[in-house]
Amino acid sequence: MHRVNPKAPSVKEIEKAIRNIPDFPKAGIQFKDITPVLADARLFSGAIDLLIAGVKPGGVDAVVGIDARGFILAAAAALKLGAGFVPIRKKGKLPYHTHEQDYALEYGTSTVALHVDALHPGSRVLLVDDLLATGGTASAAAALLRKLGAEILEASFLIELSFLNGRQKLQGHPIRSLVVY
Ligand code: AMP
Repeated sequence: MHRVNPKAPSVKEIEKAIRNIPDFPKAGIQFKDITPVLADARLFSGAIDLLIAGVKPGGVDAVVGIDARGFILAAAAALKLGAGFVPIRKKGKLPYHTHEQDYALEYGTSTVALHVDALHPGSRVLLVDDLLATGGTASAAAALLRKLGAEILEASFLIELSFLNGRQKLQGHPIRSLVVY
């Protein structure tokens, strides 16, 4: 891939830095640990640049991050784009009035929340998380954003586990993922 900045990392380099942790947090899960990417200034900055490549500064009102690793990427992207940062958190963490959205887990359900005044109708947002797996989390987040009337320009992920078909739950939204397994 042609890189404008010769020091910018390739997706391959970012992929090499992602650490695979078998059986975490429970047996059968291969946890994708992005902390080595975050700890390397060049990889961290380059990963954010790749996540927002082609997005016009000024064309985005806010970058929305999903609890908790999504916050790190979304906040960095927001600063680079000159946009605000908005958190979508697990239920019970946000202090003001919230909208809530349930979603299915392998066993049981979970709930994400968004402050009712976090965005205005028509706000142009990027939705960011570290990893797209089954898509339950991201599609619940997208439902919350739609409740506020926000326009999701793109849903962006550092990693996609494509064999879990999470994309299918995000139909209608452009999706970008850097490292695809
Ligand atoms: P899902 O709702 O199934 O798409 O799961 C996505 C959320 O769970 C993201 O917020 C990820 O941080 C986390 N997640 C799911 N699977 C993994 C994995 N294998 N490694 C790291 N994080 C994961």
